[in-house]
Amino acid sequence: MANINIAIDGPAGAGKSTIAKMVSKSLDIIYLDTGAMYRAVALKAINEGIDTLDREKLAVLVKVIDIKITYSGSEQHIFLDGKDVSKLIRTPEISIGASNVGTIPEVRMKMVELQRKIAEENSVVMDGRDIGTYVLPNANLKIFLTASLEERAKRRYQEQIEKGNTGLSLEEVMKDIEYRDRNDSSRAFAPLSKAADAVEIDTTKLTIEEVAQKIMLLARG
Ligand code: C5P
Repeated sequence: MANINIAIDGPAGAGKSTIAKMVSKSLDIIYLDTGAMYRAVALKAINEGIDTLDREKLAVLVKVIDIKITYSGSEQHIFLDGKDVSKLIRTPEISIGASNVGTIPEVRMKMVELQRKIAEENSVVMDGRDIGTYVLPNANLKIFLTASLEERAKRRYQEQIEKGNTGLSLEEVMKDIEYRDRNDSSRAFAPLSKAADAVEIDTTKLTIEEVAQKIMLLARG
């Protein structure tokens, strides 16, 4: 049977990863969080003292970067140059860095190559910003999740508290998200945008279960 590819795009905090995990579990297929890949590039740049907007240096860095994705059960682990960095990439500094490196065409080309290979070899629910528009234009199902800026900031802030990390105030989280929204939507190459054939779901007033149910209906449709 041919592989199933489901694309879930949208801005930070719209609920992509939670929903993508639920959908992949219920379809018993893998979930690829593509944001983790841009985060790993940002981590490597920062570790090497490279500005995350330095196109020339990042173009060289992605030529030699070693990014591997593995799964333990349904949980994704990302390895950077042989080291599991899945937890290290979840900081506010790396969120901004990932958004910066994501504006660089050479970085995107390398990540997209890896993502397409995974989708060719597996049935996958892939979440990101450009999956439906650029990475998998022929995906079986494309979803575009949105939510108000306030709601998205609240979710991210709550997540941070649940992880025992009280580093940023709600206002700072909102500022970071606004910065990334602007960066992600305005970049020239494969910006964040809804594919013409994507189904848009505003999750502001929906529970996670309601959103997952809607998508499952579409996936099975
Ligand atoms: O999804 P997540 O918040 O982990 O993504 C981090 C950053 O990586 C985003 O703000 C975005 O700039 C970038 N990204 C991207 N394209 C993707 C996934 C993430 O540019 N497909």
